[in-house]
Amino acid sequence: MEKSNPYEMALEQLDKAVKKIKLDPGVHEILKYPKRTVIVSVPIIMDNGECKVFTGYRVQHHDARGPFKGGVRYHPDVTLEEVKALAMWMTWKCSVMDLPFGGAKGGVVCNPRAMSEGELQRLTRRYTANLIRFIGPETDILAPDVYTNPKTMAWIMDTYSTYVGYCAPGVVTGKPLSIGGSKGRLEATAMGVSFMCREAANLLKIEPKEGRVAVQGYGNVGYYAAKFAREMGFKVVGVSDSSGGIYDPDGLDPDAVQAHKGKAGSVRGYEGSEEITNRELLELECDILIPAALENQITEANADNIKARVVVEGANGPTTPKADEILFEKEIMVVPDILANAGGVTVSYFEWVQDLMSYFWTYEAVMKTLDEKMVAALKDVLETARKNRVDLRTAAYMLAVGRVAETIELRGIFP
Ligand code: NAD
Repeated sequence: MEKSNPYEMALEQLDKAVKKIKLDPGVHEILKYPKRTVIVSVPIIMDNGECKVFTGYRVQHHDARGPFKGGVRYHPDVTLEEVKALAMWMTWKCSVMDLPFGGAKGGVVCNPRAMSEGELQRLTRRYTANLIRFIGPETDILAPDVYTNPKTMAWIMDTYSTYVGYCAPGVVTGKPLSIGGSKGRLEATAMGVSFMCREAANLLKIEPKEGRVAVQGYGNVGYYAAKFAREMGFKVVGVSDSSGGIYDPDGLDPDAVQAHKGKAGSVRGYEGSEEITNRELLELECDILIPAALENQITEANADNIKARVVVEGANGPTTPKADEILFEKEIMVVPDILANAGGVTVSYFEWVQDLMSYFWTYEAVMKTLDEKMVAALKDVLETARKNRVDLRTAAYMLAVGRVAETIELRGIFP
């Protein structure tokens, strides 16, 4: 049976890269564990007057290359193991993109859908206050993740600024534009995914007008990825969300599907489409498959049925290590999550730079710089894969882990 503990999966991916780059065992040992794990209890007064206590985590994996960086997730299924894995993946993601950041992740175990805005604001402010000594523009920079958004980031920014006594927008990214956000941040992850689809199609000689795309998950990443893929000329033949999927071999209109989802609550029932299950979506006849929902979607059980020629991972951790091996044997190219969905953290980096400089860029400058950085990172990964005859994930890890290890070795181990 494959492991479903995401931290064990992250360790397994790290081991594989470490063997290839013949890393010093001491440095490997350092990289296995987060540098700091903060667990806080977050008491808040609910709207009915009762006091309820939530558990919050902030895992800071590594900061050898720069301040910790990573999102905060609000979800009932948040676990420490999951946050540890996500924090480690952030270290590799920032490193493969050559950003001057380390990796971190936060999470609060709660059901945000069952909470009022006032409750969510109190939860966010108390969580931030409890972390105050561990975060900051030069120490650890937070960002949105599942069920947190620009409004949540504004509360974090205000709470932190109130504590330190001055306006400190650099403590979070993904903020609203009017308080120091960056143009293009909202759709940056999906834009990066679409740049990777364009490059992969080019490598595999898939003409955009003949390229069929399927997208699993229709949230921030999935919807924009489908929209940008269509704008690049691809045909979006299938999309899905947690309640199921839809298929149209003639191509769907992502904006019209989004409008339908806005009214109906799901992509299902979109006029003229055929209903399919999430499993069928993953196994569709298509050229590019974009998993953009959750972890553990392409596994040993279904990898053999994947028909796409390339998988561009919008989600974090959608493919298990066993499935990776099967896809590699089938010669299906996988653009790994730490590269494919790094557009979000890259524009977060641009946002942080803009905040520190108090000088803001145009939308065109953001997207052009993002495109250049992602294409350069892909080129490095392809070159490493070619030289070492490994899949792109292993190559991306080799590069990322190698860069972090080099920094640790150069700085030395204190004292
Ligand atoms: P989101 O909450 O906006 O959307 C998630 C979507 O997935 C929703 O449409 C939901 O219905 C769907 N979904 C949930 N379970 C599903 C299932 N079993 N099958 C099919 N669809 C399902 O979240 P998001 O921000 O779009 O994030 C999606 C993924 O991308 C996550 O893995 C996240 O960690 C990753 N990611 C997001 C960003 C970002 O900037 N938002 C950056 C990097 C990585």
